[in-house]
Amino acid sequence: MTKAAYLLTMDLLENYLKHLCGAENVKINEPLAQWTTFHVGGPARFLVIVNHKDILRRLISALEYLEFPYFILGMGANVLASDLGYDGVIIKLNFKNIEHNDVFVYADAGAKLGAVVNYARDHKLTGFEWATGIPATVGGAVYMNCGAFDHSISDNLVMVDVLQNGAIKTLTRNQLDYDYRHSRLMDEPAIVIGAYFRLNHGDLTEITKQMQMIAAKRRHHPKEPSAGSVFKRPKDGFYVGKVIEELGLSGYTVGGAQISPQHCNFIVNLGNATCNDILQIIYYVQDTVEKHTGVLLETEIIFLGKVE
Ligand SMILES: Cc1cc2nc3c(=O)[nH]c(=O)nc-3n(C[C@H](O)[C@H](O)[C@H](O)COP(=O)(O)OP(=O)(O)OC[C@H]3O[C@@H](n4cnc5c(N)ncnc54)[C@H](O)[C@@H]3O)c2cc1C
Repeated sequence: MTKAAYLLTMDLLENYLKHLCGAENVKINEPLAQWTTFHVGGPARFLVIVNHKDILRRLISALEYLEFPYFILGMGANVLASDLGYDGVIIKLNFKNIEHNDVFVYADAGAKLGAVVNYARDHKLTGFEWATGIPATVGGAVYMNCGAFDHSISDNLVMVDVLQNGAIKTLTRNQLDYDYRHSRLMDEPAIVIGAYFRLNHGDLTEITKQMQMIAAKRRHHPKEPSAGSVFKRPKDGFYVGKVIEELGLSGYTVGGAQISPQHCNFIVNLGNATCNDILQIIYYVQDTVEKHTGVLLETEIIFLGKVE
């Protein structure tokens, strides 16, 4: 494509996005640092806020027809965005309804996980307390099977509504091949629209107590901007943070990024970190851990844009 044709396409695309999503919901050259919990990342060519499922379906059809790249961003709590930004459309889902029928809770993909946890408590439903304090949207949590304290979101999950190949369909939990920090959604791209969870009737005082206990445990986590644990646990009994600490890497710093002395599986942004600073630390940790243990650590965080 010539530069002129490309620019014309960009102009048309901008107008189309504004027409479909509303001009106030389209941002141009939007710094990703403002939309990720690491607070790093260069400009996204477009960032759109999508308020309705039907608009999402039409938007995805158009982008796939144009072969224009897009990325669904939740809270950006597990994403490392490139310093160069993203030459495509970042899509933020802004539908966030939560409802329940007896012990079944439905939540839209754009709802915050914390809102679902609070909703469950408010309706005396137990089973979600473990997720207290995890920064996530329902879509992001279901996509990568977030978890903590020996629980995963797939334990609570019954069904997921997805947008796949132009159609909205419902998949059962068993169809999603859930595993530790993994779902089939990561292999066969599909957009989570909403999810159905099964909880149990519980006692409000007990639920509140459990949530406070979990919140207290999380208070020991680093306060600086991060994306939570950077590396996946490679096997049972291999505690990544502990291994990194034993190898003397606690506090290891590159530019504005540091291995948190509080929790060595967290890389934190001390204020002016770049994606590249964080990447250098990731590579250094991977090399050092592999040299000493023979284990190559796999990242849990997801890379957005050109990250190398
Ligand atoms: C302080 C801190 C503590 C954390 N603690 C934990 C923890 O205890 N346990 C844990 O598992 N994680 C933890 N994390 C990481 C993060 O909270 C989880 O990975 C969470 O699931 C990310 O959700 P998100 O909505 O922010 O997704 P994002 O980070 O925005 O996106 C992650 C991936 O999900 C995809 N995605 C997002 N929404 C959708 C959708 N609707 N459909 C399809 N794909 C989608 C994105 O494209 C991307 O590939 C922590 C992070 C921080 C910053």
